[in-house]
Amino acid sequence: MDLSLINSLRASPVTPGAHIIDGGRRAASDAEVMQVLSPLDGQPLTTMPRGTREDADAAALSARTAFDDGRWRDMPPAGRKKVLLRWADLIEANAAELAVLGVRNNGTEIAMALKAEPMSAAGTIRYYAEAIDKLTGEITATGPANLGLVHREPVGVVGAIVPWNFPLMIGAWKLGPALAAGCSVVLKPAETASLTLIRLAELALEAGLPAGVLNVVTGEGAVVGDAIAHSMLVDVLVFTGSGATGRRLMQAAAASNLKRVYLELGGKSPNIVFADAPDLDEAAKTSVNGIFRNAGQVCIAGSRLLVQREIHDDFVARLADHLASLKTGDPLDPSTGAGAVNSLRQLEQNLSFVDEARAAGRTIVTGGTRILEETGGYYMAPTIVTGVQPQDRLAQAEVFGPVLAVLPFDTEEDAVRIANGTDYGLAAAVWTTDLSRAHRMVRRLQAGIVHVNTYGGSDMTVPLGGVKQSGNGHDKSLHAFDKYLDLKTAWFKL
Ligand code: NAD
Repeated sequence: MDLSLINSLRASPVTPGAHIIDGGRRAASDAEVMQVLSPLDGQPLTTMPRGTREDADAAALSARTAFDDGRWRDMPPAGRKKVLLRWADLIEANAAELAVLGVRNNGTEIAMALKAEPMSAAGTIRYYAEAIDKLTGEITATGPANLGLVHREPVGVVGAIVPWNFPLMIGAWKLGPALAAGCSVVLKPAETASLTLIRLAELALEAGLPAGVLNVVTGEGAVVGDAIAHSMLVDVLVFTGSGATGRRLMQAAAASNLKRVYLELGGKSPNIVFADAPDLDEAAKTSVNGIFRNAGQVCIAGSRLLVQREIHDDFVARLADHLASLKTGDPLDPSTGAGAVNSLRQLEQNLSFVDEARAAGRTIVTGGTRILEETGGYYMAPTIVTGVQPQDRLAQAEVFGPVLAVLPFDTEEDAVRIANGTDYGLAAAVWTTDLSRAHRMVRRLQAGIVHVNTYGGSDMTVPLGGVKQSGNGHDKSLHAFDKYLDLKTAWFKL
């Protein structure tokens, strides 16, 4: 992306956010406005509505009405496909504006933001749009006296609650299959990353999505999110975020209408490097990117590095070398490799993990401090901690920041035991040239995705989801439709 375009977009004033309800912007009254601070400099960027329970209820009613009167789900599949494809084109046409707005709002480095946010969202919407007229039901194997049919029907109103890292990418992982299935949606973006999702919904209206099919309500999770979770008008909740909120959503479902709840939660993903890794330098470089890009605010970040003891010291030295060339700072500088931490609260939380490790006698190889404080922004030096023990909080709890815990291991058995020894099960990686070991590890690691001789990186063809306390259900791939399409049986006596 051209630097002069980035600079002109970064200087432009940001339109105040608004709810999108029933096909239009709904601004807040003065009393209901919240400041949006930019993590780049800690300064106010704009305002957005501090949504109320009534706002959430109005959005849910709008989605319910739109679903029940069939304005979207009963549109011929080719028509729905056309709208979603037009939407994807509009997202792509506005990619630069969306990417810079997103960076100013949440701090992701621009090179990654452009690819992982608008471009990825457009690709996701397109992927599901293309699938709309290829979804079929089943005729079952009955005897001659009967006919069994299995229809796939949209589940109804979807409540989607998403986090602040990659709001467009994760938002599109929910919106793409939900809208392609014919559902209506109430979307609740995170407090610190709402602006691009509001814009995304405006572009959907411009593309011809009927009013009420996609509503966005901004504000606090404990108010707006909670109201959506308890709504009797919402049939399914899809969520990406923390385990603590995931638990609340399940309780809300139990306390209201038993809506289905699909959770994509955190991780403490093990990245396991055996001494026979094909290329230790490549492994070190990829491992650095696998934890430090987006300042570690990646759900599948390889935050626990397990290194076979005989190469431990050599590998840590290689990590430090590669880290030295990863630039941390202004996310709108295209050469930046690790941008800002999303909020001051998150930054303080990251630092508390390091303080605790230091106090426990672990070695801070590099980093461990706030940097660039003079900018007013929320920046943290990428941090490598060695000597971490499997029971340490740093080896057990998700930091969601640029902090890498390094643990040595001796045998394959050891590696599996340490890797599986947390409550999480989102992602993992194995670096080895031994094909049999690679397959054994894929089978034995408790994770939704196991990378082999790489870290991160996948496409829409494969599902993403966790096991254990990393969640249930899957985003991405055609499997995502399972959350948004119900099975209905018809049984005929012939
Ligand atoms: P969070 O749970 O605090 O917030 C996520 C969303 O939930 C926000 O929109 C928030 O407003 C809303 N929310 C908060 N409290 C709520 C409540 N009581 N009721 C309803 N909604 C509520 O998480 P976060 O800090 O924004 O995001 C970081 C977390 O997300 C990390 O744990 C990370 O691992 C996880 N994450 C997971 C994936 C994945 O695919 N598994 C992807 C990205 C992030």
